[in-house]
Amino acid sequence: MLAPAALPSPLQQVDDPVLARAGVRLRLKRDDLVHPSVPGNKWRKLVPNLHAAADAGHTRLLAFGGAYSNLLRAAAAAAAAHGMASTGIVRGEELADRPRNWSLRAAEAYGMELAFLPRSAYRATLEGLADLGVRRALEERWGRCWILPEGGTNVHAARGSAATAAELTDLGPDDLVCCPVGTGGTLAGLAAGLPPGARALGVAVVAGARHLDGEVARLHAEGWGRSFANWRIDHDHHGGGYGRVPPALADFAAGFALRHGTALELRYVAKTLHAVYRLAEAGRLRPGTRVTAVVTGPPDPVPA
Ligand SMILES: *Cc1c(COP(=O)(O)O)cnc(C)c1O
Repeated sequence: MLAPAALPSPLQQVDDPVLARAGVRLRLKRDDLVHPSVPGNKWRKLVPNLHAAADAGHTRLLAFGGAYSNLLRAAAAAAAAHGMASTGIVRGEELADRPRNWSLRAAEAYGMELAFLPRSAYRATLEGLADLGVRRALEERWGRCWILPEGGTNVHAARGSAATAAELTDLGPDDLVCCPVGTGGTLAGLAAGLPPGARALGVAVVAGARHLDGEVARLHAEGWGRSFANWRIDHDHHGGGYGRVPPALADFAAGFALRHGTALELRYVAKTLHAVYRLAEAGRLRPGTRVTAVVTGPPDPVPA
């Protein structure tokens, strides 16, 4: 079994004059600290999936991800700890013959078997997961397996993410809980788990990803049988697209680490906090707002 998680994750106050000028308070919900090998929202999303997979008699987990996917590493570690085999479908055929980067090497070290697909086939497989034919083809190759959709996001993952909100027991109408949005599972769970009055703001880290609003709504319908009106997605702070770290964002993260002693993961967490700062500075957060930013993962151990 997995080593136990350190729950509830701690809260860290951040005193910052930039935010104070806007009448905004900030604290970090340090989900990055919940588990060393399955950190952040990957713990929240994967553990309920592993239980559901085991209940259904599965012995293999299959996940999709890019060259530096946090999901593949975490899924490999979590599956291994549960005595399950794991498969990682990696975007980018050309990676197959190259020396493994640190992230894929870590996934393999947990026993994950990797398969590399050209980008078009990767997309088509992910988007076709609802088709019986696509699933059959995967199971022909890998045997019966519990298939995680993109980002590991499904109803189990969203419900698991609601636990982060449930750990915030002091929320009220002045509270805005913020998180990054890659596929929307984390935001869906957070919003559904908030008490009445509190609101959730997701910061899209992907450019032009308007479908994410629909995805969050779909998860709410499927997982909770209702809709929620307490959340929205900011589409203006993706920094140029997924994985892009423009100089202004890198500078922000470096400054934040210097002033507050906390190094930030760049692709998701720094983007989210940067958005919070920019919204506060632009007067777009109501004075008196208390922001709780969910730290959904730790910084990369190696610069990507
Ligand atoms: C995977 C990941 C996300 C994306 O979360 P979604 O539920 O897909 O929106 C956010 N932050 C970090 C650090 C991640 O690793």
